[in-house]
Amino acid sequence: MRILITNDDGIHGHGLKVLAEAARQIGEVKIVAPDRERSACGHAMTLRDPLRVNPVEYGGLEAYTVNGVPVDCVNVGLTVAWPDGCDLVLSGVNHGPNLGFDITYSGTVAGAMEGAINGIRSISFSLATFVLEAPPHWETATHWLNENLLKLTQLPDEDLSFLNVNFPSIAYEELRGTKFAEMGQRVYKDRVERRDDPWGRPYYWQGGAVVMKANQPGTDVMAVSEGFVSVTPLSLNWTNHNLAKAQASRVEWPSSL
Ligand code: MN
Repeated sequence: MRILITNDDGIHGHGLKVLAEAARQIGEVKIVAPDRERSACGHAMTLRDPLRVNPVEYGGLEAYTVNGVPVDCVNVGLTVAWPDGCDLVLSGVNHGPNLGFDITYSGTVAGAMEGAINGIRSISFSLATFVLEAPPHWETATHWLNENLLKLTQLPDEDLSFLNVNFPSIAYEELRGTKFAEMGQRVYKDRVERRDDPWGRPYYWQGGAVVMKANQPGTDVMAVSEGFVSVTPLSLNWTNHNLAKAQASRVEWPSSL
């Protein structure tokens, strides 16, 4: 199996190593990752600046850094690392959760999205540490991946679909299992904070506390907060079919001008 790995935490991200170590047991791994952290870049793509690609030493694996975002890495990867294509795109393991609406901000998830757009089976992985100081249980991700990564690659797949996986950051022994889950809701409150710089001029910093609706049965948010690994199949077809139907029944567009 030919595998391309990227992430949004950058080439030095620890989760990249975790994912690469697990993936090299099931196939030939090549890494193309941003040269620095690019978290929360979403599905951005670099168009106005040249992309520089540098081969780097990565534990005996073929690896490159790119001065771009995960989408750039996947596309550069399919040009430089796997010019004849590959069978699997993996993104992560991200340091921090990508649950609910995080999916839309996430560079990690965007890496898998870009793989799916290229017609390749793709999976994003995140370690759901909820506070910055919380100890990241990377060993839990390692354990789970060693047991289940191959299984994930053998699941039924569809065009323009990919998987988003979140590990709760708890000890492996405390893990309660794995659940297929829907995308839940994870909203931030007090998102923008006003501060003053040393000259008394205001600046604004975006962050904010996460407010998770506690009771969202069947969602990724709930599965992870209850100690399960969540596996969420996502589709790039964003059409709201029910709404489209309801709206079409309520309006008649003129057939000619
Ligand atoms: Mn990240």
